[in-house]
Amino acid sequence: MSDLFTTIETPIAKYEQPLGLFINNEFVKGVSGKTFETINPTTEKPITSVYEANEKDVDIAVAAARKAFEGSWSKVTPTERGRMLAKLADLFERDSDILSSIESLDNGKAFVMAKGDVANAAGCLRYYAGYADKIHGQTIDQNSESLTYTRHEPVGVCGQIIPWNFPLLMWSWKIGPAIATGCTVIIKTAEQTPLSGLYAAKLIKEAGFPPGVINIISGFGRVAGAAISSHMDIDKVAFTGSTMVGRTILQAAAKSNLKKVTLELGGKSPNIVFNDADIDNAISWSNFGIFFNHGQCCCAGSRILVQEDIHDQFVARFKERAAKNQLGNPFEMGTFQGPQVSQLQFDRIMEYINHGKQGGATVALGGERHGTEGYFIQPTVFTDVTSDMKIAQEEIFGPVVTIQKFKDEEEAIKIGNDTCYGLAAAVHTKNVNTAIRVSNAIKAGTVWINAYNMISYQAPFGGFKQSGLGRELGSYALENYTQVKTVHYRLGDALFA
Ligand code: ADP
Repeated sequence: MSDLFTTIETPIAKYEQPLGLFINNEFVKGVSGKTFETINPTTEKPITSVYEANEKDVDIAVAAARKAFEGSWSKVTPTERGRMLAKLADLFERDSDILSSIESLDNGKAFVMAKGDVANAAGCLRYYAGYADKIHGQTIDQNSESLTYTRHEPVGVCGQIIPWNFPLLMWSWKIGPAIATGCTVIIKTAEQTPLSGLYAAKLIKEAGFPPGVINIISGFGRVAGAAISSHMDIDKVAFTGSTMVGRTILQAAAKSNLKKVTLELGGKSPNIVFNDADIDNAISWSNFGIFFNHGQCCCAGSRILVQEDIHDQFVARFKERAAKNQLGNPFEMGTFQGPQVSQLQFDRIMEYINHGKQGGATVALGGERHGTEGYFIQPTVFTDVTSDMKIAQEEIFGPVVTIQKFKDEEEAIKIGNDTCYGLAAAVHTKNVNTAIRVSNAIKAGTVWINAYNMISYQAPFGGFKQSGLGRELGSYALENYTQVKTVHYRLGDALFA
């Protein structure tokens, strides 16, 4: 064992964990040689330490990605690119137990949920593998004297900055379309969850990607992240994370080389339940809508709006349902909710809970830490909430939901749209007209009808208002990684003949 690898044993798998930065298909120590610890949120103890990238490492990774983009990668055929991505998807499936247990260890998510993430990540990579040789421009008939056509060329070297809530899934959402379109990438994982991305780096090499095509670095936002967003030789940056950091990235891009930017940011999504909804269905989806992934979802249904006739019944039954969510060690069978990812997130959420308590809302369920070890928080339900309260306006990113009462459709839409965000929403009703009218009126990038959190790599995902710029997933994501070139070829005689 060198200090670039360590053996890690989880209740599911024993494996070799890379610790270095992955640049040019090699694990390296980084220019400063500095490392940082990654913490197991279930025990609050360090798992291991990984090497930390600084600005110089970003420069080295960008140079590698640029060289590959202009050289070896540009000669790889689209079919071959697709084959490598599909192979990577196969390797994700082969090593699914290892990858999933790394997610549970480093992030704290329940192992069964992590298995779902890995299956989706593999599906996403395979989906974009299929697009690699189907990216075409148009021929445009103008007149008999010219041939005009467009080429959808790869945008170039892409910097990708991802969060800790779905480490591998976000990794695949970024890598899939970038690689399918012929770009090269430097991806920075979140400092809280660096391990799964580094294990996946091994699979990149095994899938046959040439050196420099995909580079993976561990490091902090204000150092490595900032170096990516302000780099003069990165052509595009794709970011998923908080709205505050998204703003900083947009500014850095504007101040440097005006690199193209896509942002997938925060949310405060309304989950609207009408009197005529199937109440059992609405309760289970609402529970999944907020408490899935411990509330650490940008599209979490964190504001439940219930029509007045069923409000009290809904609250009573929703509390019963939420109280049954099993909290505990992510590796234990039956666990639905693990710990929050870090002490910082735990503290932020508890601060919001205290704010809600002091601000006049009623704690209908939870509101406290769960247990004495690990960053666990009880599923928390606030009632008697008004739209002007901080807990109804700001993204909490934890297992905390507010329930508000509304009178009619008009009021539901008004409250639903009353935040600066617009990522997602849901409508529960048996009336098709109500469902369509309300989903049209809500300002959000995704609306679920009689469901929640159903995300597919085949369908676009992104935000209205301050929830983001651009769309990920589906064929829409390909536009983020290509630029259109128009070629006019003159067929006729010289103009001044
Ligand atoms: P959270 O608050 O949920 O941790 P962030 O938006 O802070 O979410 O983090 C998401 C990603 O953005 C992480 O990879 C983090 O390192 C990165 N990041 C944080 N600050 C910056 C920054 N100033 N510039 C670029 N990236 C950053």
